[in-house]
Amino acid sequence: MKERLDAIKEQALKQIQESLSPEKLNEVRVSILGKKGELTAVLKGMKDVAPEDRPKVGAIVNETRAEIEEALAKAKTKLESLALEAQMKAETIDVTLPAKRPARGHRHPNQIALEEMERIFTGLGYEVIESPEVEKDYYNFEALNIPADHPAKDEQDTFYINKEILLRTQTSGAQVHEMEKGHLPIRMICPGRVYRSDEVDATHSPVFHQVEGMVVDEKTTFADLKGTLTEFAKELFGEDTKVKFRPHHFPFTEPSAEMDVSCFKCGGKGCRFCKGEGWIEILGCGMVHPHVLEMSGIDPLKYRGFAFGVGLERIALLKYEIDDMRLMYENDARFLEQF
Ligand SMILES: [Zn+2]
Repeated sequence: MKERLDAIKEQALKQIQESLSPEKLNEVRVSILGKKGELTAVLKGMKDVAPEDRPKVGAIVNETRAEIEEALAKAKTKLESLALEAQMKAETIDVTLPAKRPARGHRHPNQIALEEMERIFTGLGYEVIESPEVEKDYYNFEALNIPADHPAKDEQDTFYINKEILLRTQTSGAQVHEMEKGHLPIRMICPGRVYRSDEVDATHSPVFHQVEGMVVDEKTTFADLKGTLTEFAKELFGEDTKVKFRPHHFPFTEPSAEMDVSCFKCGGKGCRFCKGEGWIEILGCGMVHPHVLEMSGIDPLKYRGFAFGVGLERIALLKYEIDDMRLMYENDARFLEQF
């Protein structure tokens, strides 16, 4: 009997030590102390023990039982504290870790270019104004010296809402609105969206942005235009920038010109960026046509003015060396993050 009890105890202690989970430990407990457990079986066999030996055997059985129970309790406490430790470890907050930065928005390259242009022109005393995007045919064409039969008024390019209302194809209507107010002199720029029924490709979009500029005063000359736009180019592209004016034609200015800037990549020597030319075209300009002044109620014998129009995307694409205009409208965070 004694040997059997020792064997049960030894095996039980070994199994307890090898139990790595509370479930396993419980299995061990049931297999020894449960109703059908090994030790229980021994107790049931007590009736076969001679009466005089029973107290002695009973003491040994109880002692064995107590030892196994103690080992079980110890093992249970140990497993519980291990589990708690593991949980604490998993849920640890490392207060020395740097905090996660909140995602910050970025200004769009168009917006950066616009703010730069607004900074330059307000610095020269210009006012920034707004003008309607949904415009009367009169302000978009007729008052700018583009009568109904003029080739510049191509219906293929214009989004008409009805015969008289359209989505402006240029910001130049702002010139007319501003002149009609009659507050002279005028020094203004007008940035905004314009619409043309162009197919989308790397250099075209049905919606893009222009910045219109105009000065009307008593002594405004072409020299003022050149001086102003030269200063603008130097501010925008760097002090060493040179400019060149080429004769051109616009219905609402006379004379008219296109302005080129020396390539800011190669300094004018010619490179891939400027297609070997050394010059890059950036805007159209000219002296406000006397007929345009007259139509807006300004005496062309007393006042003269100059005007210019810049493609905002063109400036942004050049300045930030973006080679596909579509990137400007796709709102891809990976692209926008770079600015
Ligand atoms: Zn170049």
